[in-house]
Amino acid sequence: MTRTEIPRVVVVTGGSRGLGRAIALRFGRTGDRVVVNYLSHEQGAAQVVKDVIASGSQAVTCRADVKNRGEVDALFASVVDQWGRIDVLVNNAGITRDVLMLRMTEEDWDSVHQTNLTGPFYCIQAASRIMEKQQSGHIINITSLVGVQGREGQANYSASKAGLIGLTKASARELGRFNIQVNAVLPGYLPTEMGGSVSKQVRDRVTRENVLGRVSDPEEAALFIYLLSTMKNISGQIFNLDSRIL
Ligand code: NDP
Repeated sequence: MTRTEIPRVVVVTGGSRGLGRAIALRFGRTGDRVVVNYLSHEQGAAQVVKDVIASGSQAVTCRADVKNRGEVDALFASVVDQWGRIDVLVNNAGITRDVLMLRMTEEDWDSVHQTNLTGPFYCIQAASRIMEKQQSGHIINITSLVGVQGREGQANYSASKAGLIGLTKASARELGRFNIQVNAVLPGYLPTEMGGSVSKQVRDRVTRENVLGRVSDPEEAALFIYLLSTMKNISGQIFNLDSRIL
């Protein structure tokens, strides 16, 4: 992979582990400057920053709860203070609170929506104000096949990820005039902490339904996301990297 000619500034929410970590490392390896956002795993985020720096690029950690508008605004203000611009935002932070719908509490519902849908909305608003002035920018939202198919025990998560697809399309329509591209990626089932939290029954079913008979790879998803961020003429699209056929 060749290094980008002019280092871009890339914000990855939830970059401390899992898919976000793989995305941060991928952008870092190609020379971009990376902001590794996290909520509580400070050490994980610091290690990602060390690894990006070791690969020859620049990176910083930035703690911010994406559910909190003030913290999100402060995150983007600090990035602009430090590096003057924002070229790519990857809305990757996400959580699950799995429980059957009849037993789902309002807290289970709200916390998942606040993190997976309201968080990206706050981040898109904050980033696009900066990107609008630049007349350029890429926003990539990480959603899920479950947002299209629905899954038992995940009504909250399925609805939040379906909402993120709608948010992607609406934002792409509004922001295209400022040359801001907005796309969504369904990364497929990943063996991360989140992926490990689903039941063996669901894991077995996912692998069975995958035409290649295997789970997805965070590195491969990160490579796709990186390549998408280099495209000049793609917006409002939903990319399914999952080999379960819809
Ligand atoms: P992990 O649980 O491994 O990591 C989640 C990341 O999100 C962590 O970095 C965590 O930070 C961060 N995070 C959670 N809440 C907040 C918050 N309020 N503010 C800021 N950061 C937060 O998840 P994955 O890597 O598996 O998932 C990444 C994305 O991919 C998610 O959006 C998920 O929905 C999506 N996805 C995952 C699939 C899978 O099979 N794993 C399948 C399809 C989609 P910290 O470490 O500080 O807690």
